[in-house]
Amino acid sequence: LDRITDEVRQVISDTRNMEQSQSRLENQMAHVVSEMEAMRQELEQVRQESLTDGLTGIANRKAFDTTLEQTLRIAQDNNHATCLLLADIDHFKRFNDTHGHLVGDKVLRFVASTLKRCIKGKDTAARFGGEEFAIILPNTDLAGAHSAAEQIRNEISSGTLINKNRGEAYGSITISIGIAKLGKDDHPLDLIRRADQSLYLAKNRGRNRVEFAGAN
Ligand code: GH3
Ligand code: MG
Ligand code: MG
Repeated sequence: LDRITDEVRQVISDTRNMEQSQSRLENQMAHVVSEMEAMRQELEQVRQESLTDGLTGIANRKAFDTTLEQTLRIAQDNNHATCLLLADIDHFKRFNDTHGHLVGDKVLRFVASTLKRCIKGKDTAARFGGEEFAIILPNTDLAGAHSAAEQIRNEISSGTLINKNRGEAYGSITISIGIAKLGKDDHPLDLIRRADQSLYLAKNRGRNRVEFAGAN
């Protein structure tokens, strides 16, 4: 009987040990799973940051290039009208020289947030470079692009940026906007080139304007 009792004790002790090591294993597993989840979130954040312009918080050039390419492919496959706007702040060098670069940076943030507020649905507003912004307008014809551009131009020129120290307004900010309309064999660069030509026209015709230079 003693032998049996000993064996039973041994079995109970072994079972306990097994339970303990299993529970340790489960804890370790749970730890690994939560670490993986944290890493996944960090990776997603890094990915988001790599597509975002640090100064203005809108899409950066890399995100713009990818989105433009995808948008054009879908539009050309389905025969959807699509337009691109290229916007450039007027006399921005002068503004920087007068008020300093940090105030200039505020203007860039003001323009970006206005763009974000004005666009809708599948539209993409991006910082194209320096003081230039691009807006992709999927499923939008020329008339729609014109009215979107006019609304943006108007919102910017009627906004006022206040110098908090002095309580007075900085001079008015205006932008010029060029429009391009997607052709069926267009490469993304063709669209950008034509938007740039339209923008050039808007600058030449006096700035604070929206222009469309034509189909080709
Ligand atoms: P235009 O009306 O013909 O566009 O004249 P402009 O002075 O705006 O054009 P220009 O290309 O001569 O000057 C662009 C200026 O944009 C010069 C540069 O200092 C400024 N700029 C570009 N990137 C930034 C930025 O990140 N922050 C600030 N503050 N200024 C910038
Ligand atoms: Mg420029
Ligand atoms: Mg400019």
